[in-house]
Amino acid sequence: MLQKKQIAINAVLKAMRLCEQVQAEMVSTDAIQKVDRSPVTVADFGSQALICKAIGDAFSDDPIVAEESAQALRENPTLLERVTSYVNCFAKETVSAETVCAWIDRGSGEVGQRFWTLDPIDGTKGFLRRDQYVIALAYIVDGVVRLGVLGCPNLPYLLKDADTEQRGCLFVAAYGEGTQLYTNTGDFLEQVHVSEEVHCFAESVESTHGDSDAHSKIAEALGITESPVRMDSQAKYGIVSRGEASLYIRLPNPAYPDYRECIWDHAAGMIVVQEAGGTVTDANGAPLNFLTGKRMHENRGIVATNGKLHQRVLKALVSKP
Ligand code: AMP
Ligand code: MG
Repeated sequence: MLQKKQIAINAVLKAMRLCEQVQAEMVSTDAIQKVDRSPVTVADFGSQALICKAIGDAFSDDPIVAEESAQALRENPTLLERVTSYVNCFAKETVSAETVCAWIDRGSGEVGQRFWTLDPIDGTKGFLRRDQYVIALAYIVDGVVRLGVLGCPNLPYLLKDADTEQRGCLFVAAYGEGTQLYTNTGDFLEQVHVSEEVHCFAESVESTHGDSDAHSKIAEALGITESPVRMDSQAKYGIVSRGEASLYIRLPNPAYPDYRECIWDHAAGMIVVQEAGGTVTDANGAPLNFLTGKRMHENRGIVATNGKLHQRVLKALVSKP
């Protein structure tokens, strides 16, 4: 697993650098106001190209199930040119636009006995706001997540020191080996653990991605009085894993009853919390099933806790008014 882990870490670190560069050059206030989404589109494709190139070269037999496909890019030469030029800043040799598309399309694999799943940028709205987003890569064998890497370019080492310049870290969890925190240059920082104490809870920034009224009621039933940490992306799993939140809750939004979560939005985050001592299930207490395709058809909502709190959360959900 060591080699696999290091290759995955290096691939995510490279994609983080590409995303950071795109973001640094994103001057437009339109982007921050989410009118011009092109920076995130460029970074999304660029990140997927770099990671699929690295994983595909090293593990050519493993399918990669990633969020993007090069189809739209092939139809937009201007965008393709921008993506290619960013990828070429980080690729070992200068490559053509067609090669970049081929790397992206390595991500069109199918869920199976053994596969990788990738969200090249999770939390696109966070990216556009220069807030939290992650690059999430996981490796799954027989339905069990064996490895998860969450690259978080804008997450401070400690949330309470959010004002410092020290931003950017990486969570790495391999099955049975715990969860480690690294710097954004790949240096090991520490082994992280969930906190036994009850702190605040985490939920999405986007009110449509959950049911914030219900989340607050659950928190109240658990005696959580602190206001929630609202954060984009799987960085929420990261802060549970290192004890800065004791619960990440994501109940289905009543306006979208048919929404099913995507595997790349949860596989890496789940193992990061589990290996740090926490528990992750869906809102019914069922294990997350990553074998039903790109979407988790058998699961509803997400509950990620420090472990200790888990049964109480599930109980509160059952007796929800
Ligand atoms: P977050 O940053 O936690 O809000 O999660 C971002 C992810 O939410 C995106 O990658 C989408 O796949 C996903 N998403 C989109 N619509 C919904 C929805 N109605 N309910 C839950 N998640 C959603
Ligand atoms: Mg996502």
